[in-house]
Amino acid sequence: MSDDKSKELPRSEAKAPQDPGRREVLKGLATGAAAAGTAGLAAGTAEAHPGSGPLGADLKNPYGGRPAGGISLPEYFRPTKYMTGSNANYFPLSEELGPDEMRISFCGSTPFPPREDQAGTCIMVELGNGKRFFFDFGTGCVRNIIGMQVPGQLINDIFISHLHVDHYADVPYIFPFRAWSGGYTPLRIHGPSGRTPELGTKAMVDGMKQMLRWHLEAFDVFPIGDGYEIEVNEFDFRKEGGVVYDQDGVTVRSWPRSHAKDGAVGYRLDWNGLSFVWTGDGRPDELSREYGKGVDVFVTEMSGQDIGQLMTYKYGIPQQLFNYTIDTHHTSHYAVGKLFADARPRLGMVTHFTQDDDIDAEMLAGIRAHYDGLFEWGIDVAVVNVTKEAIWYRKAVLPGKSGSVPPFRELAKAAEAGRITLPEEVTLPNPRLTRADQQDQKYRDMEIDPKEYYPEDVFRAPNGDWPENFTIKVADVIGPREK
Ligand SMILES: [Zn+2]
Ligand SMILES: [Zn+2]
Repeated sequence: MSDDKSKELPRSEAKAPQDPGRREVLKGLATGAAAAGTAGLAAGTAEAHPGSGPLGADLKNPYGGRPAGGISLPEYFRPTKYMTGSNANYFPLSEELGPDEMRISFCGSTPFPPREDQAGTCIMVELGNGKRFFFDFGTGCVRNIIGMQVPGQLINDIFISHLHVDHYADVPYIFPFRAWSGGYTPLRIHGPSGRTPELGTKAMVDGMKQMLRWHLEAFDVFPIGDGYEIEVNEFDFRKEGGVVYDQDGVTVRSWPRSHAKDGAVGYRLDWNGLSFVWTGDGRPDELSREYGKGVDVFVTEMSGQDIGQLMTYKYGIPQQLFNYTIDTHHTSHYAVGKLFADARPRLGMVTHFTQDDDIDAEMLAGIRAHYDGLFEWGIDVAVVNVTKEAIWYRKAVLPGKSGSVPPFRELAKAAEAGRITLPEEVTLPNPRLTRADQQDQKYRDMEIDPKEYYPEDVFRAPNGDWPENFTIKVADVIGPREK
């Protein structure tokens, strides 16, 4: 990085320069390890690793040493002033986000295969102004989002980086259930165009609605309102740093990525002097490096683990297929390190990879060959709090067996902050269809007489008709229930 370039990046300037000695030592270590590993495998021997010898005498802490400090993390890596709960773990609902704070939660982190501990890629970004965004929405992420105590009804503003299904698989899942559970407002989906209209986000949404047609009609016996409306913000994937979202002081920019097919983008969110980058999938490229410069949190994918033979042993995926996938679509661990080293974020993170303890040390060695700044793994369910003064990383502790949290608490808070006005009463939308509209009477006649299973003293005749213009008093569902 040249001198005048670093002038554009106040945060990088403030930082101690990288110590070339340490970088060289790390690079040497990584190269040595990689070379030794390759040689060992090629020869098929069980010989001991020859090692790389003692560390160089010029090894120094890249953040600036403190005598007898024994600390190898930057000063700003500390809990933010708003953390009133545990600094060790994040317990959802146990602390309020500060007005100038950003919280980034990894609600999924793998492309394939999904595992008990890794859902499909999804990054939730919450801001101190009450806004919440989702960057990608992969397989199984809804379970973690609900676990993070986010009301399903309030899930909105999903930014899709590209239309590989590992990045939006849970959209068709949340869409009808959000509406059923009281999300009567339109769902907002943001995503890139494709080369042709039928390859863009809007066409995907149209196709999804067709795929869900049976389900959507079936749920039309419930109050749905505008919950089936999807507002698609499809933007030109070719935009280079163009603003694709600009509301309430939040801007989101996008740029095209090289991902084997036109229509993949990276995103950068800026708000109140804080910034976040999600590269989406793609080969390491110059625009990601450019728009990632000096950001607070730079998250890149790292599906290219570059250890194809281990993928063969573990997952039965031929090495050639794995390597070809990396070379045409993805970012290897060495490339991650290069991107971070050039962009100099306050925190560099990787996600969208299969987390394996035995491989991750090698991955980190590759990243460290180039980058000596703050680094954390973007795996389920990592939570990062960011202010101008501090960045902190925790794992969330999710209740295993709770249901979805009701939206009332969050709505009451938004009303208190003057962001919304709560009405005294809410009349639920009337269902658009009845069972009779879409079900033959003979199938209802087949139902077992309830008198056969309800005890006489608790008998309640099933009511198959939704009351028209059913109204609830908001005070009955918000706030203390005792009168
Ligand atoms: Zn992917
Ligand atoms: Zn992809």
